[in-house]
Amino acid sequence: MKWEENVRKCVPYVAGEQPNKKNMIKLNTNECPYPPAPGVVKAMQDMDYKALRLYPNSQVAPVVNALAEYYQVEPDQVFVGVGSDDVISMAFLTFFNGKEPILFPDVTYSFYDVWADLYRIPYKQIPLDENWHIRPEDYKIPNGGIIFPNPNAPTGLLEPLEKVEEIIRSNPDVVVMVDEAYIDFGGTSALPLLEKYDNLLIVQTFSKSRAMAGLRVGFCIGSKKLIQYLNDVKYSFNSYTMNLPSQALAVEAVRDDAYFKEVTGKIVKTRERVKKELTALGFTFPDSYANFVFASHKSVPAKDIFMALREADIYVRYWDKARINNSLRITIGTDEEMDCLIDFLKKYLANRAE
Ligand code: PMP
Repeated sequence: MKWEENVRKCVPYVAGEQPNKKNMIKLNTNECPYPPAPGVVKAMQDMDYKALRLYPNSQVAPVVNALAEYYQVEPDQVFVGVGSDDVISMAFLTFFNGKEPILFPDVTYSFYDVWADLYRIPYKQIPLDENWHIRPEDYKIPNGGIIFPNPNAPTGLLEPLEKVEEIIRSNPDVVVMVDEAYIDFGGTSALPLLEKYDNLLIVQTFSKSRAMAGLRVGFCIGSKKLIQYLNDVKYSFNSYTMNLPSQALAVEAVRDDAYFKEVTGKIVKTRERVKKELTALGFTFPDSYANFVFASHKSVPAKDIFMALREADIYVRYWDKARINNSLRITIGTDEEMDCLIDFLKKYLANRAE
């Protein structure tokens, strides 16, 4: 068909599956196993449905203000989007508009190359070293911008702030985005670096540590200039991105810091226990600072384990891709869920060994 010549063709990102089985254990998309903060639940119950008649606040001001206060920055340094996917996608469109390739690791969040292709941004994937770490010196080449998650996904590895800063310091002429989707599980945020670098954009999300993946709330913090440019593109794209209920509930999530710390603390504790149990079962993994571990077994192929778990309605994530096709990304669930996983693996691996 002639019209197809002019279609903007793309290969879409494939999200982890969202099965809806009664007794499944879902450890495949890094969601939080605990409910959102009690204040979020109450605000949802008390919500005035008549307010839905009106458009929501286009600047997402209630959430912007709550985040600015929480992170001790100015409101015009904060941009809120419909999940960090929306924020990063807008940021690609806004800041990655040069001729040189943008840079990101070869093993990383697999949406980056999809956005780059969609927006026709040239890109270069920089191999992680043999221990899955980022080498800052590899990012000292001509480029049109940089993005990397810290901790990285799917490895879970955290890079120290000195390395993050080395990359930002060496690239003053482009925008550097640090995707901190998993920073709340024991990592050190790059937020203090904002005082020194006006080309730094830090992206975070409510989907993991704030238990609100279903509401779709993400944000970024950067210099006023970056946020202004980002808003110009957002308002040229869709003014009312975030719906009214999500705005109201996100504010409640930010208010309850004690609950936030309790939930993230619990997940970190479970993660550290699970690391020990997986090691005892013959798994190895990079030392994760996220709410997942990226594990390989010493003798059983990851794909076999993935299929067996799936049969038992335990969902983890597996990619049939170079470098990572013998690893499983396992989200940290509740202690009970992780006990089921470990029990299953114990039996399964014992049977395989016979
Ligand atoms: N960045 C990274 C590294 C992620 O793993 C994810 C989750 N898929 C996201 C961003 C996007 O998360 P969300 O849109 O739910 O905020």
